[in-house]
Amino acid sequence: VPELPEVEVVRRGLDAHVSGRVISEVEVLHPRAVRRHVPGPADFAARLAGRKTVTAHRRGKYLWIELAGPATTSGEYVAADAGEALLAHLGMSGQMLVQPAEAPDEKHLRVRVRFTDDGPELRFVDQRTFGGLALDDVVLVDGARLPVAVAHIARDPMDPEFDAEAVVRALRARRTGVKRALLDQTLVSGVGNIYADEALWRTRLHGERPTAGITRAQGLALLGHATDVMREALAQGGTSFDALYVNVNGQSGYFDRSLNAYGQEGEPCPRCGTPIVREPFANRSSFSCPRCQKRP
Ligand SMILES: [Zn+2]
Repeated sequence: VPELPEVEVVRRGLDAHVSGRVISEVEVLHPRAVRRHVPGPADFAARLAGRKTVTAHRRGKYLWIELAGPATTSGEYVAADAGEALLAHLGMSGQMLVQPAEAPDEKHLRVRVRFTDDGPELRFVDQRTFGGLALDDVVLVDGARLPVAVAHIARDPMDPEFDAEAVVRALRARRTGVKRALLDQTLVSGVGNIYADEALWRTRLHGERPTAGITRAQGLALLGHATDVMREALAQGGTSFDALYVNVNGQSGYFDRSLNAYGQEGEPCPRCGTPIVREPFANRSSFSCPRCQKRP
């Protein structure tokens, strides 16, 4: 499953190569890839034709392109107050590719978007078809323009408007474990299992620590570390920003070498040398240092 930094890489690539172009034609090669668009593939394609892509946005791991138009009689593309967005669910294996029109089709190509400038196509490729594309209405929530499907998702730590103090207050009011709270997308979005474990390790907190017992300083440190870990991952993945070929596939391991806790079972803790332990956590695993991160 792609994490926030990987989705941000894709967002930057889309913004650089797709924004500001007019869609000429959309081809749905597999109806399952647009199953979240309830009116169906034909409606999906018809409503996208003639629209102009405005900007690529991300919140947490959600990715969308806001749309303007269709063109008025004077040829202008006007973004309505309540607009529409092309929302991408990457799922387990979804990729958004920007490819020259003459490039051969990928084996698992599901949706093709062509533009009036005859430039590179936007292709949605998904081997397992858990992901997909949909058109969604854009609404104003707390000063942000969001697709309806994203309206309940909290701001992520990379968001310039992210309010760490408010999130720590809300976190301390919960009656749950601190890792569970960190993964709650309605509290803070975009922190996945990997980055939660790394941030907890850096803060020397065990994930089962009750949120009510977390101090304000610990809470702020935890969010700060979560932000740092994701920024570092983004910096490492940044080499692909300028490439025409942008993709995310959930297999990307470019951050693996820098992990201190996640996936490091049996390896010495880089801080104290104690072997890292793995514990079951909500059908997944948690990794921590039993010495630096005392169990409650
Ligand atoms: Zn340790």
